[in-house]
Amino acid sequence: MNRQSYPSLKKVLTETPTDTAERQQLLANPAFGKVFTDHMVTVRHTKADGWVDAKVEARKNFTFSPGTTVLHYGLEIFEGLKAYRQADGGVALFRPDANAKRFANSAKRLALPPLPEELFVESVIALTETDRDWIPEQDFSALYLRPFMIATDATLGLKPADDALYSVIASPVGSYFKGGAAAVSLWVSDHFTRAAPGGTGDAKCGGNYAAAMVAQLEADRQGCDQVVFLDAVERKWVEELGGMNVFFVFDDGSIQTPPLTGTILPGITRDSIIRLALDMGITVREERYSIDQWQQDAKSGRLVEAFACGTAAVVTSIGKVKGNRHEFTVGNGEGGEMTAKLKGALLDIQYGRVADPHGWMIKL
Ligand SMILES: *Cc1c(COP(=O)(O)O)cnc(C)c1O
Repeated sequence: MNRQSYPSLKKVLTETPTDTAERQQLLANPAFGKVFTDHMVTVRHTKADGWVDAKVEARKNFTFSPGTTVLHYGLEIFEGLKAYRQADGGVALFRPDANAKRFANSAKRLALPPLPEELFVESVIALTETDRDWIPEQDFSALYLRPFMIATDATLGLKPADDALYSVIASPVGSYFKGGAAAVSLWVSDHFTRAAPGGTGDAKCGGNYAAAMVAQLEADRQGCDQVVFLDAVERKWVEELGGMNVFFVFDDGSIQTPPLTGTILPGITRDSIIRLALDMGITVREERYSIDQWQQDAKSGRLVEAFACGTAAVVTSIGKVKGNRHEFTVGNGEGGEMTAKLKGALLDIQYGRVADPHGWMIKL
């Protein structure tokens, strides 16, 4: 992708940046999403003027009327992407254009004002460049960028947003799962669902996460790391985790992932894994897979590995699956070769250790 320039982002930098020693201490071992950089992007939308006042500025708190729409009706969408230190010492973003496109789709679904895709890309580039010193250097670490949009009309009246705020914050991150988790365990939620046909399952909105929290509590109580959701109609087909897509690996060397039918979030990691697998000559099926079949195949040995994928945790093996009607171990319970091979191929591109055949990396 070519870098587009969007000249309207003004830089108003902080007069009190975090000092180097403190920053280095914060960067040494950051917990996911708890440390934030010195700056943020903000762009405001009004009905009369469209998107205005685009700037990179000192990170600060927002002040809103208690009647602001987002606080009452949840009109919020977000994205997640990372800037990586490159093997050659540079910095690059992974597929920000794909996030820009998905953000526009999410905005459309929640009737929020669409943000020009070039402005999205330029905003994440501008923040990364400004807070470049906040990109950690350790293996598996990166600067996680969180673009988001909220409806800011100060009214309890029910209507689509006229006023909105788009913002990007950034957070240095290490490995997502504590201890770098060899494999995660999943709780099969057969009571709660994440997304229904016609709903917002394929939009990246906060509401989807709000509705999934109670299932995560159930997983915690059952001693599982994450929830795997089934489809809302038949309660049979495996869809995805709360924030990651799933892949299955078979003994014939093929891989499979549920198709994007509107209730699954179209992950950029998912799309990238599919393309890398095809590059390697691996057979990839986008076909639905039932939880009963998964259990049967895991027990017979036809299914040898399974993994979850997403920007935050990249690729994570699924070791055990448990539910009210299910309990099985996947392969040896610790992951396997195919998962490691696909994860390695993706990380090599993201950290600039190999050529980037699809032009995914935007170098800054
Ligand atoms: C963000 C997200 C994913 C992963 O998408 P990536 O683009 O790969 O980060 C998967 N499922 C849900 C529900 C998500 O919100």
